[in-house]
Amino acid sequence: MKFDTAYSLTLDEKLSIYDVRELNFDETADFDSDREPFLCPNDACRAAFDGGNVLSTFNAKNVNYLRTPHFKNKPGTRHIKGCRYASDHKTATGESDDEREDNFPSEFVLTRRQYLRKSPAISADASPSPEPASVAENRTQTSHHNNDTAPDKTSVFAHPVECYVSNIDDKDKLKAMPLKIGEHTATYWAFFKKIEYLQDNKGLIYWGRIKAIKDYISSFRIDFEKKVWFDKKPYSVNVYLSKKLIDSYRKRTAFLEQIKAAAGSQRPLYCFFYGVTPELKQVPSKQNPEQTFGVFSANIENLDHLIIREAPGIE
Ligand SMILES: [Zn+2]
Repeated sequence: MKFDTAYSLTLDEKLSIYDVRELNFDETADFDSDREPFLCPNDACRAAFDGGNVLSTFNAKNVNYLRTPHFKNKPGTRHIKGCRYASDHKTATGESDDEREDNFPSEFVLTRRQYLRKSPAISADASPSPEPASVAENRTQTSHHNNDTAPDKTSVFAHPVECYVSNIDDKDKLKAMPLKIGEHTATYWAFFKKIEYLQDNKGLIYWGRIKAIKDYISSFRIDFEKKVWFDKKPYSVNVYLSKKLIDSYRKRTAFLEQIKAAAGSQRPLYCFFYGVTPELKQVPSKQNPEQTFGVFSANIENLDHLIIREAPGIE
């Protein structure tokens, strides 16, 4: 049984596995999913057992993964009768549903979710309220789900990307599932755009197979295999990741591990990004600096909105 969400005892919140991955890789957060208790997201079910009735995680700490990350039952995890997360509560597709992400968030939120640990200092506070207003306010965004369904929004880019990649064989589904980003609403199918068609529309999630990753030690350039045609001429496409961007990234270690492995990998890898659209620029030629040539290029502005990964079956 694959869980779309789980209740985190220490954060007093329901988290997706993508939230958990965020926290694991975040160097500013004291969080290790192997040491954190995750419980059944069904409120009635969770209330029936003590805090030791925990779930386990799959692909929560693997920087590069192929199979969809998720929560799952441990051999001894118990559920109340009728809980949809009980192992004997099989779905029509059975175990094979582990192979795809079927919780499609309807909105990709561009500002990062705040994860607040349930502070033990609260009980020592002289405040007569059991829950100080500031904590309650911060929680309203994410803890108003009174049922056991997964949160409908995500701020983790990997989540919509996993929905797209793992369901690429089901185009009807991708064309039916709605996705909102910023002010725009479209379907998953319409929001993901092959890099060679980037001139069709701005503000989409562009993706393409990586031709090469240029490692300049503290900065990187990702070159795409496919070219963009403009005025009947083909142009290379790339995105640039600056040293400043990487150095200030809170998931810097995990990111460097991933991109360095990708740069030396022989396997087909794909880059997905949101937030910038490569535009035609003139850059000086290496052989003859007097001359320039055209390339479609963009500077990535937010590493949270860029992913390098394998994507079997996507082409
Ligand atoms: Zn349960």
